[in-house]
Amino acid sequence: MPQGLGAANAVIIGGGPAGAAAAILLARAGKQVVLAERAPGPHHKVCGEFISWEARPMLEALGVDVSALGGPAIGHLRLTAGAGIIEAPLLHPARSLSRYAMDDALLQQAQAAGVQLLRGTAVTGLERRQGKAIDWSVTFAGSDRITVPAVFLATGKHELRGWPRPREAANDLIGFKMHLELTPPQQAALAGTVEISLFDGGYAGLEPVEGSVSNLCFLVDKAVYAACGKDWPALLRWLALKAPLLGERLAGARELWPRALAVYGIPYGHLAAPVPEEEGLYRLGDQMAVIPSFAGDGMAIALRSGFLAAGSYLGAQGALHYHRAARREFRRPVRFASWLARAAAAPAGRRAVFALARMAPALLPVLMGATRVPGR
Ligand SMILES: Cc1cc2nc3c(=O)[nH]c(=O)nc-3n(C[C@H](O)[C@H](O)[C@H](O)COP(=O)(O)OP(=O)(O)OC[C@H]3O[C@@H](n4cnc5c(N)ncnc54)[C@H](O)[C@@H]3O)c2cc1C
Repeated sequence: MPQGLGAANAVIIGGGPAGAAAAILLARAGKQVVLAERAPGPHHKVCGEFISWEARPMLEALGVDVSALGGPAIGHLRLTAGAGIIEAPLLHPARSLSRYAMDDALLQQAQAAGVQLLRGTAVTGLERRQGKAIDWSVTFAGSDRITVPAVFLATGKHELRGWPRPREAANDLIGFKMHLELTPPQQAALAGTVEISLFDGGYAGLEPVEGSVSNLCFLVDKAVYAACGKDWPALLRWLALKAPLLGERLAGARELWPRALAVYGIPYGHLAAPVPEEEGLYRLGDQMAVIPSFAGDGMAIALRSGFLAAGSYLGAQGALHYHRAARREFRRPVRFASWLARAAAAPAGRRAVFALARMAPALLPVLMGATRVPGR
């Protein structure tokens, strides 16, 4: 265990965008911060890798330049359901960037700001200690321990033992992700565009990321995966039947990883509540709020939660203040996106969205706007 841990003001558990944002801001304000990230180095994560126009300025404020890292501009949305296709410009230009590059760039900024970064170190336990004030005892893998007045829980989709999010929001969707090299004509057709395909039992997103790489990320009901014999090529064939444009894009594409990444049981719609007995515990990112993935704003929520939490901590307003402020900001976009996801899951809902968007193309950007979280 590195020296100086005993003097830390705060421990941050998890080095995704939420944890990294809070760590950078606290360290820049002169706080001694320990950030534990269980992965030993840069790694891929299940994510559409769409960087919204709210997320990008926050990344820049944290020292991460998405364009300099090779993240292409995304100016258009192409929405498909069966053979139907609608296109619209995005409200504001967005970007895309692999999580492999983005999360690592954030952690490098954290280290440069003076954060004590423990890579390859999982936190295995968290206990509340009640003395004159509440303290938090954090146990690292290998059983080293530290007691601090503030903990930032930023473990994303992973639950920390003893501190799970409520189970009721979890669903039966499985998220898959694969990086691909499309054929040159399909790369040209996808340039500058995020394509979202809606179908019974889920939805898929495809967009270019760095260089000649495209990111395919989709959610399907676990019953669909079972019906495909839990077989990846069979699942892709099913996807191509349900989403013909996506099938066209994927024809002849080269998969860049030996196997797809997968995640299950994401609690869409989750919004953490303030808990008076948990003063000093700040839930960030997906631990604070989970917006349906098609909104492409989970990272903006994660980053924004880091800014809000750091602000409440540095302003001595505390975790309760933070949770109230975060709930106020995230409630509307999370609820609206959850309602839209439910509507789009039903054939009649998809038909209605398509019919309306055809009659009034300006509606699509309006719907997109309603799923946005405020920027910094
Ligand atoms: C299918 C899908 C598609 C998505 N597409 C998009 C999109 O296109 N755009 C967008 O903005 N958002 C998207 N999201 C949402 C986005 O990925 C998340 O909201 C975002 O990653 C949350 O950031 P975070 O920092 O809270 O968690 P994460 O990014 O998950 O980071 C958590 C970190 O904590 C670490 N960790 C976990 N447990 C421990 C432990 N015990 N000790 C130490 N470290 C630990 C993990 O290794 C991980 O690095 C998508 C999500 C899904 C599921």
